[in-house]
Amino acid sequence: MLVRNYHLEVFAPPCNPGAERWCARAALDNDIGDVLPYLNAVIRNAIYNHAARVLTWRMGGHTIAVRPREIAISNLVDKDAAETEMQRVVGLINRTWEHCAEITPSTETRQRLKPMEVYKLLPATNCTVCGQPTCFTFALKLIAGEVELEQCAPLFTEAHRVKRDKLNAMLEAAL
Ligand code: SF4
Repeated sequence: MLVRNYHLEVFAPPCNPGAERWCARAALDNDIGDVLPYLNAVIRNAIYNHAARVLTWRMGGHTIAVRPREIAISNLVDKDAAETEMQRVVGLINRTWEHCAEITPSTETRQRLKPMEVYKLLPATNCTVCGQPTCFTFALKLIAGEVELEQCAPLFTEAHRVKRDKLNAMLEAAL
C-alpha cells in the first residue's frame, strides 16, 4: 500500500472564506511522487506537470490535485464528504500503485479542452433538454466531467451526426 497514513485538514477556500463549500488537504506521511506518471497514464482527463510534480483532474464536481506529499480536493459539502472523497482518491492511488507493473507510465501533459471549441460542436439551440440552461453551460460541465455527452439528445439525431463525430473525436483525444 503506497498511501498508508495521512492527516486530513478541512477548511474554507482561502479565496472565498464565506462559501458553504469546503476544501480538504491530506498531508501524507510518505513521498508518493513515483506514482504520479502512472496516475497520469490511467486518469484520462488528468493534467500533469512533471517538472512541478503535480497532477490535477476533475471528478464528480471536485478538482483533485496530487503532489508527492499532499492530496487536495475542492468543492466538498461537509467534513464527511471530505473523508469519503479522500478515501476514494487514496483507493485509486493505492490500486494504481499495486498494478504499476502493468501500466506504462506517462509524463505527457495533455491539453485542456476549450469550452468554446466544445460549444461550437453542440446544436447551440439552448433547448434545455439536457437539464442545463444553455449549451455553453453544458460545454463547461462536459469538460468538467459533470455531464455525459449522451445527455444532449438533439446531438444524437442524424442532423448533427458530423458535429457529434467531431466532438466524440475531440473528447477521445483529450480524455
Ligand atoms: S440538450 Fe444539447 S442542444 Fe439542448 S441545451 Fe443541452 S447541450 Fe444545448
